[in-house]
Amino acid sequence: MKTVLTACNVSKIYGYGRTQVVAIHNVSLDITAGEAVALMGPSGSGKSTLLKVLGLISRPTEGSVHIQGTEAGGNERCRAQLRNKFFGFVHQDFAIIENETVERNVMIPLEYANPRPGRQERRSRIQTMLDQVNLGWALKKNASRLSMGERQRVAIARALVNDPVVVLADEPTAALDGATAQEVMTLILSIKERGASVLVATHDDRVAKRCDRVVYLER
Ligand code: ADP
Ligand code: MG
Repeated sequence: MKTVLTACNVSKIYGYGRTQVVAIHNVSLDITAGEAVALMGPSGSGKSTLLKVLGLISRPTEGSVHIQGTEAGGNERCRAQLRNKFFGFVHQDFAIIENETVERNVMIPLEYANPRPGRQERRSRIQTMLDQVNLGWALKKNASRLSMGERQRVAIARALVNDPVVVLADEPTAALDGATAQEVMTLILSIKERGASVLVATHDDRVAKRCDRVVYLER
C-alpha cells in the first residue's frame, strides 16, 4: 500500500533547560492510503503533540515528517500550503468560530486553497459537504446556535471540504455522548471511501475498534 504520511524518529521537546518537557521521543509511524489509525495512550503521552507535528502545525525538535515521500521542511509559508492541501483537522473542542455562519466556518479551508476555487465552486462544495453531514439546513445559521453534535459535524465538514489526503482528529468524540460520538466517527471514517486516511487520537475503545489499527504512545 502507498504510504502517505511518515514520522521518522520524531522527537518534540517543549521549553529549555530545567523546565523542558520531552513530549514525544523518537516516534516513527507510517500511515498508508485509505487506512484509519487510532492513536491511544495516557493523558500527557504526546498524542496531541504528534498530531500537530504530523499535521505541520508544529516543527519536530528532531526527526522529520514526510508527506507522500517528500520531506516537509521548508519555510512557514510552504508548510502552511502543504498543511491546507493535505490535511483536515478535527479538534476536541471543535474550534468553530462562534459568531460566524456555518457556511463561513466550512469555507475557511477553501479560502486558503491554492489555487482557490471560484465562488460557485466553493458554494457547491460547501453545500454538498453540509448535506453529507446532514447539516444542509444549517448553511446560514450562526454556529453558536447549534448543539454540540451539530458543531462537531460543522467541524467535520470543514475538515473534509478540501478533500484532504489525511484527516487528523484529536479526541473528536470526547465532548459528545455515546450515540453522537458514534455518528461523528461514522462521518470521519467516511473519508476512507475517497481513499483518504484518518489518524484519530482517542481514549475511547469504541472509537479505536472502528479503526484498522491502533498505535500506542507510552508516557
Ligand atoms: P496528550 O495529547 O497525549 O495528552 P500532549 O501532546 O498534549 O499529550 O502533551 C505531552 C506532554 O507535553 C505533556 O507533558 C504536556 O504537558 C506537554 N506539552 C504539550 N504542549 C506543550 C506546550 N505548548 N508547552 C509545554 N509543554 C507542553
Ligand atoms: Mg491531547
